[in-house]
Amino acid sequence: MPGCALPNSPLAGALPGINACVHCGFCLQACPTYLNLEDENDSPRGRIFLMRSLLEGTVRPDDPSVQKHIDQCLGCRACEPVCPSGVPYGQLLEATRATLYEHRSTPLIARMILFVFARNWLLRPAMFFSRLLAATPIPTLLSGISGRLGFAMAMLASTGRSIERGRYSPTTRGENGTVAMLRGCVMDGLFNTTNRATERVLAVNGYSLMPARGQKCCGALHAHAGHLDSARELARKNIVAFEKSGAQFIAVNAAGCGAIMKEYGHLFRDDPEWHDRAEKMSARVRDVSELLAAAGPRVGGPLPIKVTYDAPCHLQHAQRVTEAPLSVLAAIPELELVPLHDSDQCCGSAGIYNLIEPDTSDAVLAPKLANIRSTRAAWVATGNPGCLMQIGAGLIRADMGARSIHPIDLLDASYAAFGQ
Ligand code: SF4
Ligand code: SF4
Repeated sequence: MPGCALPNSPLAGALPGINACVHCGFCLQACPTYLNLEDENDSPRGRIFLMRSLLEGTVRPDDPSVQKHIDQCLGCRACEPVCPSGVPYGQLLEATRATLYEHRSTPLIARMILFVFARNWLLRPAMFFSRLLAATPIPTLLSGISGRLGFAMAMLASTGRSIERGRYSPTTRGENGTVAMLRGCVMDGLFNTTNRATERVLAVNGYSLMPARGQKCCGALHAHAGHLDSARELARKNIVAFEKSGAQFIAVNAAGCGAIMKEYGHLFRDDPEWHDRAEKMSARVRDVSELLAAAGPRVGGPLPIKVTYDAPCHLQHAQRVTEAPLSVLAAIPELELVPLHDSDQCCGSAGIYNLIEPDTSDAVLAPKLANIRSTRAAWVATGNPGCLMQIGAGLIRADMGARSIHPIDLLDASYAAFGQ
């Protein structure tokens, strides 16, 4: 761009994507922040206009109002599938945040979380302490207090409310291939039961599991916050770990992690040393529901419960995986699946958004809870730890009785009911 105000910035590299926007406005009604805040600057079209203005120099990257509108984006990418011009909005947002990162300081809470998640020696004790706390009545007792502390406690309380299930020991012939699993930070720390369930259901469905030692956080939180160097550092370690595993597929049961791992190629687009390796790794990544759908999935024993399904944004919009999670639930006899109105709308979790933009996050969660209430379902199935805790916390604080659960836990309980 002639006279670019931010030459050589990540945003300057995203100019072709910005130019693809034809300002039609088809994305506005898909955007939760536009619908809640009713400000064009909080819509995809408005934010793309701000991105262009940053490059043209008509607004500055240290302008607090520009930063506010970019910060208020959930990164849910609901604007992408509805865009007739194929604007890669997620990539534009990532480039904008990386550019703004150089002109301001990240909020303290976000800095602390990103610092800890990039270091296993800090992450492990943090998750250990969180698990200990979650096993006590304290999170439930404190979940009703107002503000973010109460919400954080409700999130923690929600992690201990999975379905009861019997034990079974699956055997596999591995006829559908070899799989290495991303353990994940929050999944490994707070949803370890789901990780173990994932291993079992993959085995039942003919996959043979292989270890991927040395794997790290996927880097999604860092990339979404604009800390691209940290995200790349983590991604390099994962590329090495999953290459060494030798597995055909990489199974991911957290939609946010799967989305970025499928886009590692883009993360290394300007790095000739790592780009090919990143692309090859991305091509092996599957959401666990995709692997199960490809294998059948095998039908389990009856679970006579009422369930509704909420699609994680990074599964539905970023990975465009829509049917596979439903086929997982369809493999459970007697499970009654009740459709959820606006199931493709964001729940307001969006990584650490619910901690740094609590008001907008609450506003986005409110209609989700109202829609869940009208289904009268006892369980809300969703395949992402952030969504599990955001919806789970909302259900607890609204005293609704229903619980959030990963679809894999339901399939696992169904297999346990059948004795596999
Ligand atoms: S739908 Fe796409 S092209 Fe139309 S305004 Fe939104 S981002 Fe731009
Ligand atoms: S990512 Fe989500 S919140 Fe952000 S502009 Fe797109 S639809 Fe709106």
